[in-house]
Amino acid sequence: IISIRDLVVGFDGRNVIDGFSLDVRRGEVLGVIGPSGSGKSVTLRTVIGLLPKRSGTIEVLGREYSALPRKQRVEIERRWGVLFQQGALFSALTVLENVEFPLREHLDMPRKLRRDIARFKIDLVGLPVGAENLYPSELSGGMIKRAALARALSLDPDIVFLDEPTAGLDPIGAARFDELVLSLKDALGLTVYMVTHDLDSLVTVCDRIAALGSGKLLEVGTLAELMNSDDPWLQDYFHGPRA
Ligand code: ATP
Ligand code: MG
Repeated sequence: IISIRDLVVGFDGRNVIDGFSLDVRRGEVLGVIGPSGSGKSVTLRTVIGLLPKRSGTIEVLGREYSALPRKQRVEIERRWGVLFQQGALFSALTVLENVEFPLREHLDMPRKLRRDIARFKIDLVGLPVGAENLYPSELSGGMIKRAALARALSLDPDIVFLDEPTAGLDPIGAARFDELVLSLKDALGLTVYMVTHDLDSLVTVCDRIAALGSGKLLEVGTLAELMNSDDPWLQDYFHGPRA
């Protein structure tokens, strides 16, 4: 559903992504791991067209996204939802208004219908009754993640991109979020691209894992395959630093 080929992304004189290829299959949860600064967020932002690439190709839903004219790009943008690492929600809008926002931007529909869809998504992610009228500053960290996920789901996407969705949550909150992702994948057939540092998430929700290291793809495979990798960073990550 996503096909990245020989991707290079750089800032000024430096290449941060140094020519890797990766496929994401329809209906899978792909976990993306790697040390801080290895380029996980930059890759995600490039795939969704927020950062320019220096070379390589990225096909999303069968189309070379960046080559499309504006109107067709918007058509493709409607088919994914994103939960960013930072600044998940608009602080001046309530939860309901946040979830309504993409619907307002992309679709022309009566206000009542828009509200009903937004309420349905808020319910889907398990936010408590009454949360829809709160502002982000009035929510707990876990509620913010859920509300951001509800917003990412508002347009019934084929793909959701999650950048460290469980970071900052307590272990139980993180486990609940993982369960939620898994049930959405099963119920909606979503493809999920999830950047994470959370080993539990890899174990419970990811079908395959891609490991990045300084702008290169170290390894991609199942959890078992990555656990048996010879790569020193992966060895440390899964088995603890050696003495
Ligand atoms: P983390 O796990 O800490 O979130 P990451 O793997 O997501 O790390 P990225 O945010 O992708 O790391 O950053 C990769 C590299 O690109 C870093 O060295 C960072 O400083 C650099 N970088 C990211 N965004 C920019 C930017 N807008 N301008 C210049 N350099 C950037
Ligand atoms: Mg990041």
